[in-house]
Amino acid sequence: MQVHPPETPARYFKNIVDSVKTTLVGMKITWRYMLQKPITVQYPDERMPIPDRYRGIHYLEQEKCINCLACARACPIDCIEMEAVRHGKELEWISFTLDYQKCMFCELCVYPCPKDCIHMGTEYAFVTFDRSEFKHDLLSFKGMAREARIRMKEAEAKKAAKEAAKAAGGTAVADTDEEQEKDAE
Ligand code: SF4
Ligand code: SF4
Repeated sequence: MQVHPPETPARYFKNIVDSVKTTLVGMKITWRYMLQKPITVQYPDERMPIPDRYRGIHYLEQEKCINCLACARACPIDCIEMEAVRHGKELEWISFTLDYQKCMFCELCVYPCPKDCIHMGTEYAFVTFDRSEFKHDLLSFKGMAREARIRMKEAEAKKAAKEAAKAAGGTAVADTDEEQEKDAE
């Protein structure tokens, strides 16, 4: 059984002083923060600044992409799949998907890109009730870009003109041969 020392007036006042002192020490931090401007960020209406090198959700500069598959091959867990039809030098895009159920945000897909057109952005909020939506299509348009279609048509017209000129040249040569044969007779 613990025996308490007898209460004396000096001990009584010392206890009061100690109580006030420890309370003041404890409240020091509280008062310090009470006088500061609050730093609570009202997400999602407000957001903390994100560093430029943050590895967030990818984005693709589709016009620059050449469908070389280097990014897909570099991915250690095969998250990237793409499908496009080639029309000569131009591409008709069908899909370019990235599966965020598997992606570990390692950035290994970014470095091998010869066109520097796949990047990791600063967007990180990706919330859904449906798992299938984690397979994210990075294409900003499907099919061919307007400029690519114009280039393709120009190339086709050039090719057709070249072939027509070649055919016309062949006919002219054939006509000349026939005339020469007639003259000889
Ligand atoms: S960040 Fe890593 S895991 Fe995600 S797609 Fe790129 S290479 Fe694959
Ligand atoms: S490595 Fe770059 S250019 Fe090649 S398919 Fe991927 S994003 Fe397109």
